[in-house]
Amino acid sequence: MVQKGLAEETPVHVVAGEGYGPTVMVVGGMHGDEPAGYNSAARIARWNIKSGRLMVIPEACKPAVRKGNRLSDRSGDGNLQDLNREFPAGKTPWSPLARGIWNVVADKDIDFLLDLHSSSGLYKWGNGGGVGQGIFATNAGEADQVRRRLQSYLNDGFIDNDTYKFTGATAGEDGSKRMLKHKVGADLNTPAILFETYRGLSDERQETLTTSAVYNVCRRKGMFDK
Ligand SMILES: [Zn+2]
Repeated sequence: MVQKGLAEETPVHVVAGEGYGPTVMVVGGMHGDEPAGYNSAARIARWNIKSGRLMVIPEACKPAVRKGNRLSDRSGDGNLQDLNREFPAGKTPWSPLARGIWNVVADKDIDFLLDLHSSSGLYKWGNGGGVGQGIFATNAGEADQVRRRLQSYLNDGFIDNDTYKFTGATAGEDGSKRMLKHKVGADLNTPAILFETYRGLSDERQETLTTSAVYNVCRRKGMFDK
């Protein structure tokens, strides 16, 4: 549990397989108006795996999810805060909630992190268009390879209409974005992916894409094998 007993309290689900294997962490609900991410994460938290460990925080920012808003006034001072801009690389996270989440991430020696989001625009539209159907990797480890593989896997197997094909990028990890993904890459040298569906697609379709992406990562890591 993160922020136990407070309005921000949110559970951390741990799914453990019998066999030895990697630890994959999945985060949803950083933004409260992105149900594809938090509904997918809730489904993933109910998976059974054979090996390794799956750690899932379905609703990272409960106050924002409760309101259905991207941002929330967590400090109670009238200012809206974006949880995914509170993770500066090399420094302490900015808020108690961000520190609580970071403690889980940093304590558990994770091998891979997926942060699940959705966007009102498509990444391929370019600057200011949004980041939907975008997969964004850290520079660390295998993240970029996994990003490319996920792109092909989803585009070939799930998407007929070219408009909705996934594209993506690998971003630097200088901490300038203050995102959880950046901090995981920069501070822990652990591969991480930020996954964005397009909110113009149905919720069901977005959840299929999101859960399939996470499933693919876990399957390739042998988590469904003994
Ligand atoms: Zn988001």
